[in-house]
Amino acid sequence: MELKDRFLKYVSFDTQSSEESESFPSTDKQLVLLNYLADEMRALGLEDVTVDKYGYAMGTIPASEGCETAPVIGFIAHVDTSPDMSGKDVKPHVIEEYDGGDIMLNGSLTMRVEDFPELKDFVGHTIIHTDGTTLLGADDKAGCAEIMSAAEYLMSHPEIKHGKIRLGFTPDEEIGRGVDYFDVAAFGADFAYTMDGSSEGELEYENFNAASAVVEVQGRNVHPGYAKDKMINAIQVACELNSLVPAVERPEYTSGYEGFYHCVGFSGTVENAKISYIIRDHCSEKFEQKKV
Ligand SMILES: [Zn+2]
Repeated sequence: MELKDRFLKYVSFDTQSSEESESFPSTDKQLVLLNYLADEMRALGLEDVTVDKYGYAMGTIPASEGCETAPVIGFIAHVDTSPDMSGKDVKPHVIEEYDGGDIMLNGSLTMRVEDFPELKDFVGHTIIHTDGTTLLGADDKAGCAEIMSAAEYLMSHPEIKHGKIRLGFTPDEEIGRGVDYFDVAAFGADFAYTMDGSSEGELEYENFNAASAVVEVQGRNVHPGYAKDKMINAIQVACELNSLVPAVERPEYTSGYEGFYHCVGFSGTVENAKISYIIRDHCSEKFEQKKV
């Protein structure tokens, strides 16, 4: 199967994960694609194809003759899509030979080059986009399709010599649980790569520390006419607290290894207020300080 057709097949599966769910994987529908990928690996002739009780699908491209002692290389991608937007009934559009212009997603939504200047890097390429009503699901079905197409190519081109290669497809990455039950020993790779990036040729080889925090403020509501020395306005307290967080340590002012505090939610009344943050830092010491 051609890479593009394989990708279009994968995005037809609704595999949205759910933060609210306490089961693993968080949604059963992810298993449909995970089992499909396992069947596809078997059909391509891969060995040791398994789907474990958590849904992780794995398979092996055996080493070429004479390469049995080479390090085992793994390739990993996740099947789930973000809970932020629906990934059901995706209607992908394919543009061959993209001309560099604005892209009409539907009658009322246009992806403008002015807003997404990186589109200019893809003039002449094939572009696949959504109709704007759902996610496309390229994160990370593009990775799944890349890995499976590479596997198909290697299986049918024995002249390309390689060591043992392991493939792994995982659920629940988008909700931060993708590695929770990943069986590292069963996977058995000496080195592995997750195919889940942004641009061609990019290689990320390290990661930040991540935490989230929710601060709840209990105020004291009093009739404003009698409020002097009595009222505690939870909104004002929350604003004051937020203003104490270093302003320059926000994502819009940081880059590279600089960590940040990012306010992702703020709601309140006089009685109660709630602020949500995410915290990121590459340095574990600074990360701990930020959490404190
Ligand atoms: Zn991803």
